[in-house]
Amino acid sequence: MLIKSAQFIISNSDYRKCPQDNRPEYAFIGRSNVGKSSLINMLTNRKGLAMTSSTPGKTMLINHFLINDEWYLVDLPGYGYARRGKENRERLQQIIEDYILQRESLTSLFVLVDSRHEPQKIDLAFMEWLGENGVPFSIVFTKIDKLGPVRLKQNVEEYKQKLLERWEELPPVFVTSSEKRSGREELLDYIGQINAS
Ligand code: GDP
Repeated sequence: MLIKSAQFIISNSDYRKCPQDNRPEYAFIGRSNVGKSSLINMLTNRKGLAMTSSTPGKTMLINHFLINDEWYLVDLPGYGYARRGKENRERLQQIIEDYILQRESLTSLFVLVDSRHEPQKIDLAFMEWLGENGVPFSIVFTKIDKLGPVRLKQNVEEYKQKLLERWEELPPVFVTSSEKRSGREELLDYIGQINAS
């Protein structure tokens, strides 16, 4: 898919205030620092489109970007901040859950995980929750430039095995590096195919 245009539309913390035009929506989520902003900027070819989680005030918001006047790319808040405090964490979880369960135009979710790390409980629990709720999702491994091909293969395999302990089928898996711009075509083509179907 060619990215002809990408523009920021709106940020808010309530799915009911998100755009109402029913264009298909693809949301990106992951733990803080997983490389979500870098991936969104890489996919859209816009350096500063998604702001990094270090940007003050940005972290609790759902951000909508309109792509090719056709679909929305949604930057969801990162989950699992230890530093947030209980109240903030619970509020954030509510924002994310409400969006995922209530947002009718949400077509698919991309769950980002750092390819260097072994499967983390919080990510696995989140995917389990998605599965239980019938939410279509893919796994996106990030920062693959940080490890060699053998190690990458091992880590991805380990992840798949972990999921197969609980599920009969695996979600689609993408391997990406924003640094090297890899995985970009695969991910965008996947979105393009769903949009065309
Ligand atoms: P976010 O908090 O998930 O939005 O993560 P960021 O996109 O801000 O990235 C967190 C850190 O990881 C930053 O220092 C990035 O430069 C770095 N990073 C993100 N993606 C990549 C990647 O593909 N390769 C490498 N080597 N570093 C990355």
